[in-house]
Amino acid sequence: MSVKEQRVTCSYIHGKWTAAAAGQLVKSINPANGKVIGHVRYADATDLDAAVEAADSARRGWRKLAGTQRGALLYKAADLLESRMDQIGETMCREMGKTFAEAKGETARGAAILRYYAGEGLRSVGEVIPSSEEDALMFTTRSPLGVVGVITPWNFPVAIPIWKMAPALVYGNTVVWKPATETAVTAAAVMQCFHDAGFPPGVVNMVIGSGEVIGQGIASHPGIHGVTFTGSNPVGKQIGQAALARGAKYQLEMGGKNPIIIAADADLELAVDATMSGGLRSTGQKCTATSRVIVVKEVYDVFKEKLVEKVKSLKVGDGMDPSTWLGPCANRKQWESVLSYIRRGQVEGAVLLCGGTVPDDPTLAGGYYVTPAVFDEVHSKMAIAQEEIFGPVLTLIQADSFEEALVLANDTEFGLSASIYTRDIGSILSFVSEIDAGLVRVNAETAGVELQAPFGGMKQSSSHSREQGRAAIEFFTSVKTVFVKG
Ligand code: NAD
Repeated sequence: MSVKEQRVTCSYIHGKWTAAAAGQLVKSINPANGKVIGHVRYADATDLDAAVEAADSARRGWRKLAGTQRGALLYKAADLLESRMDQIGETMCREMGKTFAEAKGETARGAAILRYYAGEGLRSVGEVIPSSEEDALMFTTRSPLGVVGVITPWNFPVAIPIWKMAPALVYGNTVVWKPATETAVTAAAVMQCFHDAGFPPGVVNMVIGSGEVIGQGIASHPGIHGVTFTGSNPVGKQIGQAALARGAKYQLEMGGKNPIIIAADADLELAVDATMSGGLRSTGQKCTATSRVIVVKEVYDVFKEKLVEKVKSLKVGDGMDPSTWLGPCANRKQWESVLSYIRRGQVEGAVLLCGGTVPDDPTLAGGYYVTPAVFDEVHSKMAIAQEEIFGPVLTLIQADSFEEALVLANDTEFGLSASIYTRDIGSILSFVSEIDAGLVRVNAETAGVELQAPFGGMKQSSSHSREQGRAAIEFFTSVKTVFVKG
């Protein structure tokens, strides 16, 4: 049964779409208007066992294929994903509110990631090391982990799963993927591309279900050899603990509270655009979203004025409307959480300069909209400056000097991305050296890392090896050191 024919989105196990007869039926809601757009049938622990068994039975045959043969299937999946960009983009927009343009852009990125890793099938993966013995050859080679569990969030429902599954597959692993239930329909459209590309049954499986049953089930399943997770910090920690307890390899990409420093010599027009785009694109629902806007006192007032003027002009609306700059929050829970942070900021004593309200436009009634908010007079220790809001909220923090700005930029438990706007080489070098962030961006917004570069953070943002680019090989393979005596 193809996705198009499905009334109910369900799991994909051993090459077949399958629904647990007794599985809970959950509504899928369009955040632009609160209307039901479909249903999702949750899988249960028995389905997860079946998926792990399928992945286990497929892994010996899959790892035996040449890397180029595995890569060839990734190229096919990339072509299919690209040819369905409009359909997948629309599904994503209707399911989680991202604008159609951004959703199509993400789908195109998914295809580019698949092609990047398809090419990995051709590249060498070991090194020869000189031996101190005569007539001996010593080298390293890499083996797949086996069955990899992939747990992903709703905010990038195409790109994030693909940047985990593509390297997992090309390096010879089989996959059990648990997508976020909020974006299960988009996930099924991605899965359909893998199916139509002709991956052998069992090589890629998708199990849709609750975090507690399927997510935790993956983390603690003895048949899963590695777990890669992207999502929130508390859930990531639980998954890490469960994987560690049974000695499985794991990788966690979690939250961020990303600073941007605006130095006295910054090009303010560019800095305003980068702050706005980094903080408010995708309705602020990016792990790399700009959040702590740290501005030195010399330019604070001018920057603030320019920023507020631009933010006020942004059009909030349904992501399918091409004039929309900023769509709704992805779901009701997220919307309520963002609104409660806005109230909390006001209670804490920060001054709301614009936004933070539910728009009164009757055409947006029923949707989970919040107008983009800018807070002034924010102190670094306020909750709105410390906790990940994951919504369209910018917090302005004034620094007395560049040195103080650096201290403030590091005053968070997270360390994913950080940016600075300055032309001064000394300030750039200090920033690069002293900032506690895995992604360091100079005269560029905090979001927007290229797919061939390693991605990941420090402190509470990430745990274990990097994702993306060639760095992915570290997680998805194990090294063997081989010594051969002639
Ligand atoms: P989430 O942690 O709620 O969910 C992520 C995944 O884990 C989902 O598939 C979910 O169903 C599952 N899950 C939920 N509870 C679980 C449990 N108890 N046990 C096992 N699995 C469980 O995150 P979210 O709300 O989907 O996504 C938003 C979060 O993701 C934000 O914190 C954001 O910063 C983070 N994120 C990080 C990155 C990164 O690369 N660092 C990228 C995107 C999003």
